[in-house]
Amino acid sequence: MQLDANHLPGGYILLDNTNTVTAINQPLCDWLGRSREDLCGRSPERWMTVASRMYYLGHVLPSLRLHQHAEEVFLSFTNATGDALPVIMNAAAMPSPGSGYQLLILPMQRRNLVEEQLQQARKTADRAVAEKDRALQELQTLASQLEQRQAELAALNVQLEQLATRDALTGLCNRRVYDREIDMNLALFKRTKRPFTLALADIDWFKQFNDDFGHGAGDQVLQEISLCLRQGMRDIDTLVRMGGEEFALILPDTTAQQAALVAERKRTEIEQYKSQYGSVTLSFGITEVRAGDTRAEIYGRADQSLYQAKRQGRNQVCVG
Ligand code: GH3
Ligand code: MG
Ligand code: MG
Repeated sequence: MQLDANHLPGGYILLDNTNTVTAINQPLCDWLGRSREDLCGRSPERWMTVASRMYYLGHVLPSLRLHQHAEEVFLSFTNATGDALPVIMNAAAMPSPGSGYQLLILPMQRRNLVEEQLQQARKTADRAVAEKDRALQELQTLASQLEQRQAELAALNVQLEQLATRDALTGLCNRRVYDREIDMNLALFKRTKRPFTLALADIDWFKQFNDDFGHGAGDQVLQEISLCLRQGMRDIDTLVRMGGEEFALILPDTTAQQAALVAERKRTEIEQYKSQYGSVTLSFGITEVRAGDTRAEIYGRADQSLYQAKRQGRNQVCVG
């Protein structure tokens, strides 16, 4: 069988012992874009890139001389237009000793292409990971913003609850709370028959006080009386500013007699208390819950008792 190197599907070079090209096949001439005359009689590393040239002279050639063969060597030639031509090369000494070497050269453009695609894919994957990290970071920022908003909302809700249930001047519960608590105590009384008592308290001659000392002084006294009433109250008791200078105390698990003692103590404390504008007194009207009471009925009775305390001269506790 006759072998024609010009029809090999790869490059072929014959070197003599001095590393000089003595023959080269047509496909390799074509790839390098040079004529056979250009290539023959010269060393092959002449058409390699600088790195490949150093590798060829430093490793490939010495190894070829030492071991008589070199396999799967990756090199890069440069063609006539300056483009790199990456190749894989197998080299071996000629069968008869001292008669040079033959080099088989296969271009690796496709492999490069695959490598480029791999690199591209890796870059795309890196970008996707970076994108994911950024999205995650954004999500975390959003989550913490949401948490902050929720905390602000919760604080606002507390404020709103305060506004809806507290009296601005004294900080006491307002009438809305009174309605809720009375209804709850009435329902509880219906079920358990345990007594509770409602005490109304109203400042005596307060209009006169305002007229004498001014509205600001009146406000201050309202605050001081609120503080005094609040002191010593149990957790289960509810103290409400009903409006103006009238207060209500809802005392669970308390009879009218027991409530009267509490009211009497408060009345005395306030009577003895000297504000910078002189003394102020309170009148109390007290009633204990009765079977079948409605919200209006229990309030009406306590108000009647308060009216009686006023009529009898004020600064006193009346039970009805
Ligand atoms: P009585 O002993 O019969 O209760 O007489 P009074 O003057 O206290 O009762 P009246 O109902 O005639 O007047 C209540 C006064 O309470 C009228 C108003 O000037 C005063 N008042 C009501 N709310 C406030 C308030 O928020 N601040 C001040 N400074 N005064 C208030
Ligand atoms: Mg009054
Ligand atoms: Mg009043």
